Amino acid sequence: MRIAVLSGKGGTGKTFVSVNLACAAEKAAYVDCDVEEPNGHLFLNPDTTSKAPVTVMVPDVDMDKCIRCRKCVDFCKYNALALVKDKMLVFYEVCHSCGGCALLCPVRAIIEKERAIGTIEEGNSGNVRVLTGCLNTGEVSGVPIIKGLMNKLPKDGDIVIDCPPGSACIVMESIREADYCVLVAEPTLFGVHNLSMVYDLVSLFDKPFGVVLNKCLPGENPAEQFCARHQIKILATIFYDEELGRLNSNGHIVAREDKRYRELFERLLEELRKEAVS
Ligand code: SF4
Ligand code: SF4
Repeated sequence: MRIAVLSGKGGTGKTFVSVNLACAAEKAAYVDCDVEEPNGHLFLNPDTTSKAPVTVMVPDVDMDKCIRCRKCVDFCKYNALALVKDKMLVFYEVCHSCGGCALLCPVRAIIEKERAIGTIEEGNSGNVRVLTGCLNTGEVSGVPIIKGLMNKLPKDGDIVIDCPPGSACIVMESIREADYCVLVAEPTLFGVHNLSMVYDLVSLFDKPFGVVLNKCLPGENPAEQFCARHQIKILATIFYDEELGRLNSNGHIVAREDKRYRELFERLLEELRKEAVS
């Protein structure tokens, strides 16, 4: 089963839920798609078995062949090319690797070359295969790294995809392969705002989904009320617990260290399996 874990912002407990779900499974892969700030490996501490660059194709202009017709500059909708004082400037960070400029150049002055934008690391942590995408500093889009991660998903066992926060195109790419989405939410009005963002996204993609409420206290819970209003299934409620906070902030995996939490995440996994087939 492929489970995508999302939240409208960082810090709600998305990675906490993801790594613990993966550890509660018999055999699982944890896929860190939060490529700007991957941190699941800090908990899972995997051995690294491989580290491969992720590359995209970008234009390389031969100015000896170029006749300065500006066709490529006018064509590029991302403004990645500029002809300035007889020199072609290429702004690689905003190039979307469409290849159009190379195709339409009348004198074949443009060839495409590979450019590294990040890496994918693979390793193991007990029962969990760990795949981590990492975008190089200053790069604009991590989508090619997410695509690279999706091509490496194992064929067997459960797969937990730790999505980037928010609801941008990089999140859409992360949930594309998922059978079920878990939305992690905090019990505050701000939490409701973030929950509604990812609720809209999974509804748009027509993915089955449910909510995990995290850091809850007894009493009024606006996120719970939001779920009731929209008839959203609450899969689990995790209460604020100092011991849990201490273990988690020290990089421990509670499902591996505390029987109560192991059982909680095993129950959650069971619930997800039932929900995905219903
Ligand atoms: S389309 Fe080709 S010839 Fe025209 S400006 Fe661009 S690189 Fe030069
Ligand atoms: S490959 Fe596409 S996006 Fe990149 S510079 Fe050429 S036309 Fe622009």
